[in-house]
Amino acid sequence: MSTMLSDLRRTKAAAQAGSDGAVGAGRNGAARDGAGRDGHVLANEILLSLPRNVCNNLVSKTQLIKLPIHTILNEVNQPIQYLYFINAGLASVLNVLQDGKSVEVGLTGREGFVGVPVIAGFKTSPTRVIMQIEGTAYRIPAKDLQAALKAFPALEKKLLKYSQELALQAGQIAACNRVHEVDERLARWLLMSQDRIGGSLIPLTQEFLAHMLGTRRASVTVAAGMLQKAGLISYVRGQLKIEDRDRLESASCECYATLTRQLSAWKSESE
Ligand SMILES: [Zn+2]
Repeated sequence: MSTMLSDLRRTKAAAQAGSDGAVGAGRNGAARDGAGRDGHVLANEILLSLPRNVCNNLVSKTQLIKLPIHTILNEVNQPIQYLYFINAGLASVLNVLQDGKSVEVGLTGREGFVGVPVIAGFKTSPTRVIMQIEGTAYRIPAKDLQAALKAFPALEKKLLKYSQELALQAGQIAACNRVHEVDERLARWLLMSQDRIGGSLIPLTQEFLAHMLGTRRASVTVAAGMLQKAGLISYVRGQLKIEDRDRLESASCECYATLTRQLSAWKSESE
């Protein structure tokens, strides 16, 4: 726990100073073609989907930074200084209530970016966005992103599309948290997380999962126990492992399939 807290403190300091977390500045061309300065490979799907010249121009304005667990990327009511194109790991969009409780309303991995209000010209964040699984991101100052939006309509279109995807998630998750059972929601969350980080290991504690699902830790323990007993998940050295993805999809509420279907429909409509 003390390690995580010190990580958080370091990360906050790095975010403010804008230097400690850097693992390499984006470079024209090199990142798109493979390894960055430290061997990190460009994996963000939005950046990769841009026309080559736009991607290269944008990446040259970014800094590839490490994002330890609990790094706060956006804070409620605070100015948004940077946009983050997530390259690895998982960020969680949280709605924070006045009593300090928070509930997840969205998930962003390498398919997306953090800092949606900036593309509409807004300057502050209505939500807290925090790294739930450590990773990396290509970070660009908000003002540089604003200039890039004017210069590259293709970029603006991609970012608008992703903001719609996040809004879709928020609506579905709101309904899900109100209506569906914890074990179904847990299955839905695990599937969504796996889609965004790849692999079968989800390095999260049950305490985190309780926050993510807006429920008590005891309820998550029971739900995870049910999925474990059925052979859908297991625990490997404290990490949650997905053992049977097909059956996990069957165990999820309808929300996972609904989201997947809509995203797929939008993808084909925009091609
Ligand atoms: Zn649901």
